[in-house]
Amino acid sequence: MTLDCSRKGLLMLLMALGLTQGDSGRPSRGPLVTCTCENPHCWRPICQGAWCTVVLVREEDGQLQQYRGCGNLHPELCQGRPTDVFNHYCCYSPLCNHNVSLTLQATPAPPLPWGDQLALILGPLLAFLVLLVLGALGLWHFRRRQEKQRGLHSDLGESSLILKASEHGDSMLGDLMDSDCTTGSGSGLPFLVQRTVARQVALVECVGKGRYGEVWRGSWHGESVAVKIFSSRDEQSWFRETEIYNTVLLRHDNILGFIASDMTSRNSSTQLWLITHYHEHGSLYDFLQRRTLEPQLALRLAVSAACGLAHLHVEIFGTQGKPAIAHRDLKSRNVLVKSNLQCCIADLGLAVMHSQGSDYLDIGHNPRVGTKRYMAPEVLDEKIRTDCFESYKWTDVWAFGLVLWEIARRTIINGMVEDYRPPFYDVVPNDPSFEDMKKVVCVDQQTPTIPNRLAADPVLSGLVQMMRECWYPNPSARLTALRIKKTLQKLSHSLEKPKALY
Ligand code: ADP
Ligand code: MG
Repeated sequence: MTLDCSRKGLLMLLMALGLTQGDSGRPSRGPLVTCTCENPHCWRPICQGAWCTVVLVREEDGQLQQYRGCGNLHPELCQGRPTDVFNHYCCYSPLCNHNVSLTLQATPAPPLPWGDQLALILGPLLAFLVLLVLGALGLWHFRRRQEKQRGLHSDLGESSLILKASEHGDSMLGDLMDSDCTTGSGSGLPFLVQRTVARQVALVECVGKGRYGEVWRGSWHGESVAVKIFSSRDEQSWFRETEIYNTVLLRHDNILGFIASDMTSRNSSTQLWLITHYHEHGSLYDFLQRRTLEPQLALRLAVSAACGLAHLHVEIFGTQGKPAIAHRDLKSRNVLVKSNLQCCIADLGLAVMHSQGSDYLDIGHNPRVGTKRYMAPEVLDEKIRTDCFESYKWTDVWAFGLVLWEIARRTIINGMVEDYRPPFYDVVPNDPSFEDMKKVVCVDQQTPTIPNRLAADPVLSGLVQMMRECWYPNPSARLTALRIKKTLQKLSHSLEKPKALY
């Protein structure tokens, strides 16, 4: 996992709704304060920051752990208040975080310092929501709902849904997402709930840095979540990903689970956050660096990633339907490995959508391009038909073949395995240019070298054959994601029953 974030290990507080610039009462960057530092990234027992923090986190083993440290990032989000919003604490005097002890608690309803302003914003929105509920479920259902909410201190309107969820079981996020309060068409919660959730997330540690931002492990009510903080030059990716998750029903085991999206505007800077499920193994790229694979695991990773891609690519009709989606930046860094060792596909910032009925191709407005190393020949020689949706799916399949190649090299056959390498590592430099890639892929028509040992294995040779069929120069001749998925599933079955192959 990449750990080169500028301020690794900083603990920081995000306030719940109710935080205003007016209640900060102090400059955003005051003098440095010394704090107790107790978290995996501390160099010393003390650190120096703009404020001190304590964050309560539930670790993978279910144990609650208190992390103490310094906060520096995003000062406008942790201003001026010792807070007990819930599960986090932030203060400004020397070592003020030393003796603080937090206990896991449900969200207390945050105060409403914006008073009239908030009412002004929430009023019409709530009225609209109520109308919707009335229309959809009828007066009876509406009354029952009101009754439930009344007992739950519903000053914040939508946020009472969070309180409701917090009453059940262990995973409040799970309950919240499964409850009937997700938006009608998209995969997410209503916008106000998304905002509330986002502002109750405490950033715990930086787990990765990509081309356009940072990814942090955050904590929401003691549950880990991933927070992607987009740099302002990549705001279009945030817009696109937010748009897709909020308009398309994308709940699938092999697509990264969306929780919330939030934009805050403070002073002159805009902060763009995307909150998703957190996967401690990190990306497939990270995973393959760290470990080698038994064939069974290799196929599990490959099949699950193919299921994710097939689900993206397919258009589903009906009320629970979805448009066809092409990813356009498929690579091992954009595939995450879940704790059950299945993959899920992440990063929809460049995705395009298509619906057959309306024959509408929604390309978005993102100036970003895919990752050069994974670009298909027709992208590199700029011959791709940009007005044809199928073309984008074909470029995904090219890239998927490269991901399969990365997996195959790390698969142990007869005790042999190769080191992790990115595709075309032997023919282009690190961070290859467009021209470097074009020369190799279009002019010389090279595809990655396939180790001989793979061809000799009955199952892995099947995988190799598939890669080749993902790399046909003629895009329309390539396999479809559905075919890849089915063939991989067959290969995986044959591993369980080896005789079937002979
Ligand atoms: P890029 O795709 O350009 O590498 P990202 O910003 O998408 O950049 O992600 C950076 C890194 O952060 C990933 O490679 C991965 O290690 C980590 N990461 C991203 N999302 C998650 C997540 N949901 N859970 C755990 N780690 C993640
Ligand atoms: Mg990414």
